Amino acid sequence: MGDSCYNVIVIGAGVVGLAVALEITRRFPQRRVLIVEKEDRVARHQSGHNSGVIHSGIYYRPGSLKAKLCVTGAAAMVEFCREHGIPHNVCGKVIVATSSQELPRLEDLYRRGRANGLVGLRLINPDELCEIEPHARGLKALLVPSTGVTDYALVCEKYVDLISAAGSTVLTSAAVTGIKRSAKEITVETARGAFSANVLINCAGLFSDRISQMAGDRPCARIVPFRGEYYDLVGERAALVRALIYPVPDPRFPFLGVHFTRRITGKVDAGPNAVLALAREGYRRTDLNLRDLASSVTYSGFWRVARRYWRHGLAEWRRSISKAAFVQALQSMLPEVVDEDFVPGGSGVRAQAVTPDGALVDDFQFVPSRNVLHVLNVPSPAATASLAIGRVVVDTAAKMLSN
Ligand SMILES: Cc1cc2nc3c(=O)[nH]c(=O)nc-3n(C[C@H](O)[C@H](O)[C@H](O)COP(=O)(O)OP(=O)(O)OC[C@H]3O[C@@H](n4cnc5c(N)ncnc54)[C@H](O)[C@@H]3O)c2cc1C
Repeated sequence: MGDSCYNVIVIGAGVVGLAVALEITRRFPQRRVLIVEKEDRVARHQSGHNSGVIHSGIYYRPGSLKAKLCVTGAAAMVEFCREHGIPHNVCGKVIVATSSQELPRLEDLYRRGRANGLVGLRLINPDELCEIEPHARGLKALLVPSTGVTDYALVCEKYVDLISAAGSTVLTSAAVTGIKRSAKEITVETARGAFSANVLINCAGLFSDRISQMAGDRPCARIVPFRGEYYDLVGERAALVRALIYPVPDPRFPFLGVHFTRRITGKVDAGPNAVLALAREGYRRTDLNLRDLASSVTYSGFWRVARRYWRHGLAEWRRSISKAAFVQALQSMLPEVVDEDFVPGGSGVRAQAVTPDGALVDDFQFVPSRNVLHVLNVPSPAATASLAIGRVVVDTAAKMLSN
């Protein structure tokens, strides 16, 4: 086998691509794996711009891939962090109902969490909430003890160490520009040369649909980017939050609503909201990429989403341009916070797959096509679930890998 020939090429060195590559090196140690990444370092996009939460699995429809892989993935992530000395804290979180309309939804979440196999869930009254989070207020809350925090950029670095130690290669600054396929071989053209393999796994996150097209397939959904913006709680005001304080989410949307997260560094932030991004890697409100914008606005699915959710979208947009509106949403759970407590923080862009009929694809989606496997929709909690996703993706590709 020549220097440019591999058994498997994985596109994308985010938490998912790296977890998939790691699982291949574990299950098929004799296979040569190449991971190609367009940036000069790993975890440059979603995997390095997230809330760092190890989600419990409470939100997801029982039986869905998200539910199964989040619950098993969270346990695997905690174990992985423990084994490799990566800072993490299983601090638990509270989901707080602040209006009577939210109470039935909070109870639904409790039932859903139990159906998904979570242990230690407890519906608590306002006094118990105050013992756990002294500054939070609500009519009722749900305590989720298995939620935690870590740093997924550090997790990715450890994945790279293990992949490299197993003899496989992570090649950065290697943007994929073309893919040629025959029945037996795939050639991937990159900024650092052409490489061939028998199997290709597409884990390109915000560009997974474009890589799918490049490979000659027709993705069943298009990626629409949603930016999430954070504010940081300043100085001593961070003491208002002990761990994680979340609202009751609207079950019609895949996003969780702005919340407080005490990160593994001790910093407390609030967010993220969810607004349409004008560029797939548009971290600032002013970032605009005409190709990305055209890809969204010329898509029938985008307009159907816009028609269906315009009211919700307007509220998110208002919270994006008005700090007062953002803070107001947070005050319902933490009445003591005021505008001056917050300074602008980071941001991230979510890859949300949208079908032509305007559905926001909810579950993880892995689409095989002969000797290529496309990982097309892996939104939150995919960082939490990455090790479990790696297992399922490799199960799905196992036949291709054994040939
Ligand atoms: C704001 C926000 C908050 C979140 N919070 C959480 C959380 O608390 N907990 C949780 O579990 N999940 C969270 N998530 C979700 C989680 O971060 C993502 O689901 C996960 O990181 C997806 O990983 P990925 O590897 O698919 O994507 P990415 O990390 O985006 O990786 C894809 C990689 O592909 C590369 N690539 C793209 N095109 C090419 C090309 N042509 N050639 C070569 N390389 C290419 C990109 O450069 C990128 O590095 C959050 C996401 C966001 C945006």
